[in-house]
Amino acid sequence: EDKEEELVIDYVSKNMNNMTVNMPYQCFINGKFIDADDGKTYDTINPADGSVIASVSSASLADVDKAVAAAKEAFENGEWRRMNARERGRLMYRLADLMEEHQEELATIESIDSGAVYTLALKTHIGMSVQTFRYFAGWCDKIQGATIPINQARPNHNLTFTKKEPIGVCAIIIPWNYPLMMLAWKSAACLAAGNTLVLKPAQVTPLTSLKFAELSAKAGFPKGVINILPGSGGLVGQHLSEHPDVRKVGFTGSTPTGKQIMKSAAANLKKVSLELGGKSPLIIFSDCELDRAVKMGMGAVYFNKGENCIAAGRLFVEESIHDEFVRKVVEEIKKMKIGDPLDRSTDHGPQNHKAHLEKLLQYCETGVKEGATLVYGGRQVCRPGFFMEPTVFTDVEDHMYIAQEESFGPVMVISKFKNGDIDGVLQRANATEYGLASGVFTKDINKALYISEKLEAGTVFINTYNKTDVAAPFGGFKLSGFGKDLGEEALHEYLRTKAITVEY
Ligand code: NAD
Repeated sequence: EDKEEELVIDYVSKNMNNMTVNMPYQCFINGKFIDADDGKTYDTINPADGSVIASVSSASLADVDKAVAAAKEAFENGEWRRMNARERGRLMYRLADLMEEHQEELATIESIDSGAVYTLALKTHIGMSVQTFRYFAGWCDKIQGATIPINQARPNHNLTFTKKEPIGVCAIIIPWNYPLMMLAWKSAACLAAGNTLVLKPAQVTPLTSLKFAELSAKAGFPKGVINILPGSGGLVGQHLSEHPDVRKVGFTGSTPTGKQIMKSAAANLKKVSLELGGKSPLIIFSDCELDRAVKMGMGAVYFNKGENCIAAGRLFVEESIHDEFVRKVVEEIKKMKIGDPLDRSTDHGPQNHKAHLEKLLQYCETGVKEGATLVYGGRQVCRPGFFMEPTVFTDVEDHMYIAQEESFGPVMVISKFKNGDIDGVLQRANATEYGLASGVFTKDINKALYISEKLEAGTVFINTYNKTDVAAPFGGFKLSGFGKDLGEEALHEYLRTKAITVEY
């Protein structure tokens, strides 16, 4: 009778990349893959050619209620949160191992569902997800409080100590740019802390989340600890954020949705952490190593076809090297291979979905209308799918739309600054409502550190870019949100502190 029920999975199977890729496509609730309550489905599309990959269950409000109830039961029965912390860590390591064993399959699914080039999907999207689970697995048995001296009089018969507790059922709502990696950044910290979760992937990229659900069951996670609901933001996301049995929302996505989530979460004062949009400045001084700044500057903009929250949304290049910098960038763009993301030699894949491509083309049109100089690109690539040319704008003035608003695509927006005008460029770099990341290229360490102190951004890169690591806290200031992913700080986003005082 105690025998575990067997996991029944219907797959959409495809032969590609020299293997059979098996993709679950139903909601994952209480340890089972099931159809949506009302039977609804929607198609998820391959952005490389516009074809349908799979018809995925579209969770309903009733499914949200079921998933939250399962997560609540799994939290309250204590099987997960009161599990020996080392055993909890071991399960997370086992899940990371399974993700690694399936890394080619996961990377293939990510590539066809999100348009990420396979090589990047394997190394970053999947590779960093595995690392994130291992990093937080290691924290499971190191969560501890403090002893705090109160009433300093002697003799003292008081002892205050703090305990760190899991919060309860957490809703995790994520975007489409790094589907599995965003899942990992939030879920690993959430689970290590002893919480249970209901996760909603972005509607357009549900497939690696569902594969992850399968692997979590195979790793032996108790039922109800992890629940995954593909579906719409306005319905599933909103209902999760409002749900009275959800105690915390971990969100990554756009700033307008972040604001909406704060409003929804206000009903029962859920704890909230928000990783939102950005318009990160990158300042390039004439005393930098120019070729490195060109290479890194291009990575800062075109990495993951610009669908990167910390992408450098604006480059400020010192006047004396401006023209040479632009010439070198254009030279390098011409060498980039645009094409099938599954092809190992491709550098630049399709944008994530059609509406996003259309938004980007509009963004470029606006730039031209405003009077910025379109030096390269700005058009859709003439082939099936949602490909966009890597694009470069120069002569961008501070008041322009393209200087203020995030593109979230492969659009380099370059402005000049006067030779030696450090404070002037700093003031311009900070003149944005966002504060996610920033960067500076210079060989002068004093200048670099002075600038890093003044930049209003949660991350500053000096002579490098995109160098995120599972051990370093990641998160923004101002309209880029609050709360951290990764590093020890992320763990505390998913814990609450209880102070206990005893007089003896
Ligand atoms: P989005 O805000 O449209 O959607 C994000 C998620 O929220 C999706 O799962 C969506 O379905 C859901 N959602 C939509 N409306 C909702 C609602 N009313 N209530 C609850 N959930 C709702 O963002 P996107 O277009 O998927 O992602 C792009 C944005 O994400 C960009 O602005 C980008 O900068 C940002 N982003 C930020 C980070 C970061 O770490 N700061 C990382 C990646 C992406």
